[in-house]
Amino acid sequence: MSKDILVTRSSMPDFDEYTNEIKELWDSHWLTNHGVKARLLKEQLKEYLSTDNLELTVNGHMALELILTALKLPYGSEVITTPFTFVSTTHSIVRCGLKPVFCDINPDNYTIDADKIEALITDKTSAILPVHVYGNICDAEKIEKIADKYNLKVIYDAAHAFSVSYKGIPVGCLGDASIFSFHATKVYNTIEGGAITFKDPSLSKVIEEIRDFGIHDEESIPFVGPNAKMNEFAAAMGICNLRHVDDEIKKRSIVEKAYRDGLSGIKGVKLNPVSENQTRNHAYFPVIFTDEYKLSRDEIFNKLSENGIKSRKYFYPLTNEIEAYKDVFDSGNTSIARDISRRVLTLPMYADLSTDDVKRICDIIAL
Ligand SMILES: *Cc1c(COP(=O)(O)O)cnc(C)c1O
Repeated sequence: MSKDILVTRSSMPDFDEYTNEIKELWDSHWLTNHGVKARLLKEQLKEYLSTDNLELTVNGHMALELILTALKLPYGSEVITTPFTFVSTTHSIVRCGLKPVFCDINPDNYTIDADKIEALITDKTSAILPVHVYGNICDAEKIEKIADKYNLKVIYDAAHAFSVSYKGIPVGCLGDASIFSFHATKVYNTIEGGAITFKDPSLSKVIEEIRDFGIHDEESIPFVGPNAKMNEFAAAMGICNLRHVDDEIKKRSIVEKAYRDGLSGIKGVKLNPVSENQTRNHAYFPVIFTDEYKLSRDEIFNKLSENGIKSRKYFYPLTNEIEAYKDVFDSGNTSIARDISRRVLTLPMYADLSTDDVKRICDIIAL
């Protein structure tokens, strides 16, 4: 019996590299609140992502909440977004007192269908929050042209798009702001962590204060804010992992190639599109099972599972059909997203997944 294959496996530096990185914390006793590690990581990430403005956060979700708060979108205003995403995107809008308005996705790369945005704009719309799903970059030109016309903010959920560039533009430079997740399961991790990149440099101070309970100084607290700071141990992990992330992405590209070789030509198996317009980080390997495939998505999910292979129904259900929003939203308005969510599986993907294991997975799908 061969060993089980998990859907993901966190990247980690050598034990000694990490312990070496955290050694000085035992001298300083400075564990959080923007110590040396967080300050260093911030500078390194600004360089890596080619952005002038970046703030670190405790995770990707709080990065979303912080930027939605920092942009001072009117309370109760509408944010056009997509339901084909991790639940965090939608929750952040709702938790910030804003109203998600769901736009359908395009069936080619599963990002927001930019041609359907304009019809959803009302006098209450304040922002567009698209998602670079699986590292597939949204149609930024079209989206930002609409945003300019109606004076809307554009915030990208770039949790899947670390290190990617689009038509030569680093992804964190698109729109008014982008958020990244450095969760353990992402291409680049700080155990838990995240970052916001943004265009307007004056937002730095605002984000710093909101991130720290809204405190300006001991006697002046101008904002209502959570605690969303990155701690020093997370930042140290980030410093170590950043040294290796390019190698990890290269190794993932080999895994991706093995999948494409193994799955090409199987009837009813649709792979993620390849686009000349962008680079790739190989974060996920999504597969759509069309009607031509001999099993349903759930049947192939179970079959893989019986063989010790963990795949993921990512994203299913849509965020506009989860229990928490029962009777609030209607997924019938986003029928393409609904169809894709019932057909998609992401297959195991991580840098050290062997080509033999990939072959085993492909053979089960081909059978
Ligand atoms: C992971 C993820 C988030 C949330 O990031 P965390 O770091 O887990 O809080 C938000 N949006 C998307 C699309 C994600 O995949």
